[in-house]
Amino acid sequence: MTLAIFGGTFDPVHLGHLSVAWEAAELLDAEVRLMPASVPPHRDAPMASAMQRVAILRAALHGQSRLTLDTRELDRAGPSYTIDTLHELRAEQGERPLVLLVGADAFANLASWHRWRELFAVAHVGVLSRPGVSASLPVELEDEVAGRRVVDAADLRRASAGKVIELAVTPLEISATRIRELLAAGRDPRYLLPAGLFDEPALLAPYRA
Ligand code: ATP
Repeated sequence: MTLAIFGGTFDPVHLGHLSVAWEAAELLDAEVRLMPASVPPHRDAPMASAMQRVAILRAALHGQSRLTLDTRELDRAGPSYTIDTLHELRAEQGERPLVLLVGADAFANLASWHRWRELFAVAHVGVLSRPGVSASLPVELEDEVAGRRVVDAADLRRASAGKVIELAVTPLEISATRIRELLAAGRDPRYLLPAGLFDEPALLAPYRA
């Protein structure tokens, strides 16, 4: 089975993340691992600590097994680069197809990632549509991906890396930024987050004012 990796800050994970990850798992016939990132010191710190974000992820993933959690980037000292994580996974997984899942907004910025061209040597890339994000890409990125595009998920299973597929997932206009705003304002964004998170008030406490 294909292994797909979905990285993010997950500050906190929300139904937008979970729904697109689930649909990607179905479309690719893959196991999807959510991989929370540690954030470099020069970037905005997440509101919740790594431990708190993981506790929320665990609660959110409870009750199913197709979406799993991989905390390797948090277990390492300091922030890690996606390319290094993918090399590590490649060494563990042999020739198994690997897919890096990214939202369309993150994909549009791919050319700013560390050693970004090398990503395609180690994994396929699955681009998840996201409301409000246009499909146009910077020229150097478009030049790199033009010859890599496939439309059929079966093409990803025939090679272990190097292809790019657009995954037309159900658009859900949910962002962690919006969730943090609502929680800080004392609101209860019950149907934007997994229901289980409201059973344990301590989980969302880092975001309350
Ligand atoms: P923030 O609002 O804090 O920037 P976010 O909601 O964008 O957070 P991240 O943890 O930064 O969440 O995103 C992780 C990955 O999930 C990124 O690749 C992002 O593009 C993708 N993503 C997040 N929300 C959605 C959504 N609603 N639809 C599709 N992709 C999404």
